[in-house]
Amino acid sequence: MDPTTLTLTTAVDDLQGVHPETAAALRRLGLRCVADLLLHAPSRYRRTHSWQSMSQMAEFADAQSGDDLEVRGEIVSVERGFGRGAKVEAVLEDDSGEVDLVFFNQPWIQRKLHPGLRISVVGRPRRYRSRIQIANPSWQRIDNDASLVAPACEDEHAKLTPVYPASDELSSDSIAEIILATLPDATALLDDHLTDEYRASRNLPTLARAYRLLHRPELEEHIDTARRRLALDELLMLQLGVMMKRFHRRTHLQAVSLPLTEDVQSRISARIPFTPTDAQSRVMNEIAADLAEEIPMNRLLQGDVGSGKTMVALAAMLQAVANGRQAALVAPTELLAEQHERTLREVLQHAPMRLELLTGSITGSARRSLVKDIGAGRVDIVVGTHAILTNDVVFRDLAVAVADEQHRFGVQQRATLRSKGSDQTHCPHQLVMTATPIPRTLSLTLFGDLDVSVIDEMPPGRLPVETVAVDRAGAAAAYADVAARAGRGERSFVVVPVIEESPTGLTDLESHLDRLATGPLRDCRIAAMHGRLDTTERERIMNLFREGSLDVLVATTVIEVGVDVPQATLIVIEDADRFGLAQLHQLRGRVGRGDRAGKCVLVAEPTTDEAHRRIEAMVETTDGFQIAERDLEIRGPGELFGARQSGVPPFRIAVIPRDLELLALARRDAEVWIEEDPLLTQPPHTLLRRRLLKAHGQWLGLGDVG
Ligand code: ADP
Ligand code: MG
Repeated sequence: MDPTTLTLTTAVDDLQGVHPETAAALRRLGLRCVADLLLHAPSRYRRTHSWQSMSQMAEFADAQSGDDLEVRGEIVSVERGFGRGAKVEAVLEDDSGEVDLVFFNQPWIQRKLHPGLRISVVGRPRRYRSRIQIANPSWQRIDNDASLVAPACEDEHAKLTPVYPASDELSSDSIAEIILATLPDATALLDDHLTDEYRASRNLPTLARAYRLLHRPELEEHIDTARRRLALDELLMLQLGVMMKRFHRRTHLQAVSLPLTEDVQSRISARIPFTPTDAQSRVMNEIAADLAEEIPMNRLLQGDVGSGKTMVALAAMLQAVANGRQAALVAPTELLAEQHERTLREVLQHAPMRLELLTGSITGSARRSLVKDIGAGRVDIVVGTHAILTNDVVFRDLAVAVADEQHRFGVQQRATLRSKGSDQTHCPHQLVMTATPIPRTLSLTLFGDLDVSVIDEMPPGRLPVETVAVDRAGAAAAYADVAARAGRGERSFVVVPVIEESPTGLTDLESHLDRLATGPLRDCRIAAMHGRLDTTERERIMNLFREGSLDVLVATTVIEVGVDVPQATLIVIEDADRFGLAQLHQLRGRVGRGDRAGKCVLVAEPTTDEAHRRIEAMVETTDGFQIAERDLEIRGPGELFGARQSGVPPFRIAVIPRDLELLALARRDAEVWIEEDPLLTQPPHTLLRRRLLKAHGQWLGLGDVG
């Protein structure tokens, strides 16, 4: 293709010199057009030094720089290696020494290499036992009479080679070649959405230069320069989007004001069955103040498992009801919805108001009449699952909507909830609750359109859950403990990762239950609890467990969130290394909710470093915020409390927490811009605005922002 007609949307199939098969392989990697190629960031850079002698190479290996280098020599032997899998070993030497080349899973190499052959090899040398080895090097023949004396080495720079995410059909080097070929023309097409002035003030390269440096750095510092610009771009866009959304909510959307009069206050207080902790009081005040405004509240309530969020939610809902409006509480599972309904019904026993449960299990005429009553305003508080969010459920005047356990709720659902208001211009005040403490910096990034309240104090008398990690053999003692506790009237959970026999060989729930029921727990009353049981059965089993007719529940993670049985004191988590840290912490929160201390036994034989660190973190702390920080450290924010489900597009370049400083900068700058030009409609922002809407318009629901 003539480079003058190249555009950013030119398909990879139309690029000069790209074979149709290669184009197809590119497309399978998600690289469809020129812009995709530019955006395809190297996952790392290989540092390659030019031709070195064997003795210099030995020094490199000992310095463990991780750099690659080239050596040249003559093959002196080739053998099939011992051990499992195809392995070919060759020895290469020059006048100054020798190196072992090891080729894994490339049996054909044995036919290509032979003693006397001269080759050039590029790879990373490392010391293995007392010898130097290069594993899976790339190599090529050189003339058999070529000199093997490396040129005297000046202390020159290593060459930086981008290593791209690649596939079996397309290597990083092939991708690099294609990207490099389009780079000059493609970057020449890039308009910058940041002004010269701004770039100068923040010492940022142009977008074009940033991409050139990203794909073709000559110096180490070029990589940083490129990354800094592109990471800041991503963070800035996200912050601007989120702030734009916030501005829109505060200026265009209206909520019903729910004043907290003395009368309302005392009616609410009368329903709260205990003295709130200081943290609960503070948070209740923050929420009450929001609800009195005509600006729709959009608040995230963070509080560790057992910190008492339910009562805070109740107070908020009562503020709506006392003002003659409706409220809803949406839970992520039926089990949780049912439990909330039970708790609230008990607390509201003698209150002159109507509370109803709406879940997927309520169908037919029962559902129809309930929906009708909700629409007519005959129901004051609706507790339920996402069934509340279906189209046919219309409230007469929903004023407060609470979503429990936010990490299961996407932005999409929150938007739906918002649209459940009485009319198009009014929307309910929203409270989103999560027990997965999110590091503050991160919650600002991901949920920047939310105000955040934190309950950082436990109700009095709560004892931390003792946590131990044991291997398979240690599980026996844990089950003996389960049996002993059953004898004392205490209850236990046993959690397994999956229900069915799976090819991964995880403990299967039913067979595990059989083993326990016929073995160590033969004297216990034991039952299975999982998501495949229908609601009535689940409800029946939960009730038996709650009232003490069952000693042990063998469960999947359906018990992860919210399940509240004060007499449960022990939780044994099988294959604990298979669970995420947040999930483990949630599970642990199921015990020690009464006045007796809880214990958590993690049965795990972790095989990866990450799994090790997760188990370690659990044993070391019961503080949810510390757990969250550790989680962030261990795996980055991508997976944190299901950021993906929440709809936030993943970053390509930025990495949190590494780029926290850039994030702070992005927040500061975004704030100033939005203050000056709330919807970014001023001329210098036109291109920025277009790109921002493209990146974040959909998940943030910025469509209505225009
Ligand atoms: P979570 O924040 O995990 O949803 P809950 O709201 O279920 O926690 O509360 C956990 C337990 O603590 C419940 O049994 C609740 O009744 C109790 N609780 C909550 N607040 C207080 C308080 N201020 N004083 C005493 N007990 C409380
Ligand atoms: Mg809860």
